Amino acid sequence: MNVSNELNRTLPKKLMGLLKVIGREADKSNLAVFLVGGFVRDLLLGAANYDLDIVVEGDAIRFADQLACKIKGKVVRHKKFGTGTIVMERPKWLPLASRGGKFKIDIASAREETYKKPAALPTVKFSSLKEDLYRRDFTINAMAVNINKKNFGLFIDFFDGKKDLKKAVIRVLYDKSFIDDPTRIFRAVRFEQRFAFKIEKRTLQLIAQAARKDMFSLTESQRIRAELILILKEEHPEKAIFRMRELHELRFVHPALSLRRDISVTLNKLKKCVKWYKTICAAGKITDEWLVYLMVMLEKLSPGEVSEVLEKFVFTRGESLKLKSYKALTEKAVKKISVRKEMTRSEIYTLLKPLSHEEILYVMAKVRSEKAKKRIETFFIKLDNVALKTKGHDITKEGVNPGPRYTKLLRCLLREKLDGKIVTKKDEIKYLRQIIARAKV
Ligand code: ATP
Ligand code: MG
Repeated sequence: MNVSNELNRTLPKKLMGLLKVIGREADKSNLAVFLVGGFVRDLLLGAANYDLDIVVEGDAIRFADQLACKIKGKVVRHKKFGTGTIVMERPKWLPLASRGGKFKIDIASAREETYKKPAALPTVKFSSLKEDLYRRDFTINAMAVNINKKNFGLFIDFFDGKKDLKKAVIRVLYDKSFIDDPTRIFRAVRFEQRFAFKIEKRTLQLIAQAARKDMFSLTESQRIRAELILILKEEHPEKAIFRMRELHELRFVHPALSLRRDISVTLNKLKKCVKWYKTICAAGKITDEWLVYLMVMLEKLSPGEVSEVLEKFVFTRGESLKLKSYKALTEKAVKKISVRKEMTRSEIYTLLKPLSHEEILYVMAKVRSEKAKKRIETFFIKLDNVALKTKGHDITKEGVNPGPRYTKLLRCLLREKLDGKIVTKKDEIKYLRQIIARAKV
């Protein structure tokens, strides 16, 4: 089978051109070169995937150097794995939404991975394409397309990936797969939920077996963290979290992590809140949506247990700080914003302003009353960006020397402004004079 038509139909012309250049460069060095992985899977699903994953039957790093020279990219070499990544300035044809605008080509050597011990990183040995594909996670990710000039578009499918795509199933290539690399049990859920597929029966059994075996203690925690973050970054993290729960995968995040069923209410609400937030805060302040989902996941753990998770998975300092503090900070906010009968805008502001947007979204997903939700919406839409026009020097002009009183006066002014009692700078100065005068009486 040849998939040239599919390539032509799905990819921008310029990307097609690039694939041909890659094939030509490989021809020059007498190397067979293949597109593999998610790119091929998505192609068969009719979608363009702009992460090029390439396998050469030969030295990948040398080929990466050669190709980078031709297409003016930078090479990041991973000597330990014998792979190279070419990173390029954002090409014009790359859709804006695509992966932060970076374009990259991953190049690996067709290799045979011999595992010294279960769950250790593979030691690399050159071998054929079939060997390489056999070591991949699932059949749907183990198809290849040759892009050398002679056979451009030749579709290679040793393990019936296409059939499994049609059947909408996630299937491992061999029984020991999860033992060799347990992070694949998270990946299975990620792809299953993304494509609304089903993990095939035997693969499910193997996940259950692996889950019982505690394989994760042998694997590098950073790789689990990376897979976890990828899951939380999916279109439907709420579904994936539930599926992980069903498959008993959550205990690898922390043994005490057993989400109650009612967490689905919070997760579904969070999903809606994040969607809403993105429509009103186009230049939203949250960069890490996934962090809010993690907050919900970890909410029932004790502070000590949360610290254990943070240490084990080595989250960044910023992420750790947010994950450590959110519970203490948000608990009070959830309560106050829910129980108070009346709340002025300035009171809502005072309560929510000290929190990060991630934390406020968490609060939003936790509150049950419509009134509380409306208050948070008001904060995002009307209050968060309110700023005074009056500056320090305006206050000095009124005869007040810099000092703590400054802050107090500014706070008073801001309160009036938030509550809509003053609008223009003129109003601000007028009110400022009033309160200064009042204090003098
Ligand atoms: P996505 O669209 O999410 O990027 P992808 O299939 O491209 O999906 P990547 O994580 O980018 O997934 O990995 C690229 C390819 O590398 C996969 O398609 C798969 O063939 C292979 N791969 C990645 N991780 C593993 C793993 N843990 N075990 C085996 N093969 C893997
Ligand atoms: Mg990918």
